[in-house]
Amino acid sequence: MKTAILHSPGDVRFEDVDAPRILAPTDAVIRLSATCVCGSDLWPYRGIQPVPQPTPMGHEYCGVVEDVGRDVKHVRPGQFVIGSFFASDNTCPHCEAGYQTSCQHREFVTGAQAPKLRVPLADGTLVATPDMPTDDLVPSLLAASDVFGTGWFAAEAANVKPGATVVVVGDGAVGLLGVLSARLMGAERIIAMSGHASRQALARDLGATDIVAERGEAGVERVKELTKGVGADSVLECVGTQQSMAQAIGSARPGGYVSYVGVPHGVALAGEQLFFTHVHLHGGPAPVRRFLPRLIDLVWKGEADPGKVFDLQLPLAEVAEGYRAMDERRAIKALLMP
Ligand SMILES: [Zn+2]
Ligand SMILES: [Zn+2]
Repeated sequence: MKTAILHSPGDVRFEDVDAPRILAPTDAVIRLSATCVCGSDLWPYRGIQPVPQPTPMGHEYCGVVEDVGRDVKHVRPGQFVIGSFFASDNTCPHCEAGYQTSCQHREFVTGAQAPKLRVPLADGTLVATPDMPTDDLVPSLLAASDVFGTGWFAAEAANVKPGATVVVVGDGAVGLLGVLSARLMGAERIIAMSGHASRQALARDLGATDIVAERGEAGVERVKELTKGVGADSVLECVGTQQSMAQAIGSARPGGYVSYVGVPHGVALAGEQLFFTHVHLHGGPAPVRRFLPRLIDLVWKGEADPGKVFDLQLPLAEVAEGYRAMDERRAIKALLMP
C-alpha cells in the first residue's frame, strides 16, 4: 500500500510500504474511511522539529476494523471506530483519572495518512459508533479523533461554565473547535482571536460572539476593553508560542483559568509575572479518549458539526498538496480520502 512519508522538511512523498498487520495480541488493524493533516504535522514539515529519518505521518483516524489480535475482547471486525493519537490501555491509574495521553502503556499512533493502520491497545483506544455512519458524518467523526477532542479538552481545562466569558487564542482547527466546545458547554460570550477573514467567519458560525483581530499586547488590550477591564473567565490557548501564551495569560481575569493545548515551541513562563496574575493553568496533550463517547454522541445526534473545519478535500495520493495548502494557510485543515 502507499502512505505519506516525510523525508525532510517540505518533502512529503506518497510511497510504498508494507501493509500493517497484527503484531501484538492487543492490536487491531483498521481500514481508514478518512484521514487528515494536523497542524502539529506542520512543525516537522517546516523543520521546526527535526526529521532524523523518513517518517510515516498522520495520527488522526477513523474507519472499519478489519482484524483484531487474539486478546482483543470488545472491538470486533466490521465495526466503525475512532481512536486518539495516543493508544492507551484505559485501565491504569492515569487512564482511570482521565489522562489517557499519560497512560502507563501509551503508544503514539502514527502512519495514519494511509489506507490502513495498526492500532495498539485496541480495547482501550478505540470507540465504536452505534452503527455504520453515513458518508456525511465521517468528517465530523474524524474530527473527534484529535481536533474536536483537543478543542473540547481546552474548554474543559479552562473551566468553561454556562454563562462564562471565554477567549480563544488561535484560529486553527483546534481553536475553532474550542469555540464550538465552549458554545456547547454554555458559554455566553466567546471572543475568538483571529486576523483572517475566512477563519473569523467560521469562528462566528461555530459560536464566537466577538472577534479580536489584534495580536500580542494590542490583543490583550482589546479583550480588556470588551470585558470592561475585567478579563475573561476562561482562556483557551491553542497555538503553543510564547506570544500566544502571553496573550492568553494576559487576557484572563485574576483567578481565571487558562488552558494550553498547542504543543509548546520555545514557551517560557516568568515565575514572578505568573505569580501576580492569579491564573489557574492546565493543559497538555488532550486526553481525547476520555471525551470520545460524548463527542461521538454529539456528532451522531447532529448536535455538533466539527467537520466544518475541513475546508479542503483531496484524494490521499495528493497528501503533499494538503501539507502545502496548510503550510501556506490556504487551507485550515485538509481532509484526505484513501
Ligand atoms: Zn493532530
Ligand atoms: Zn492507561
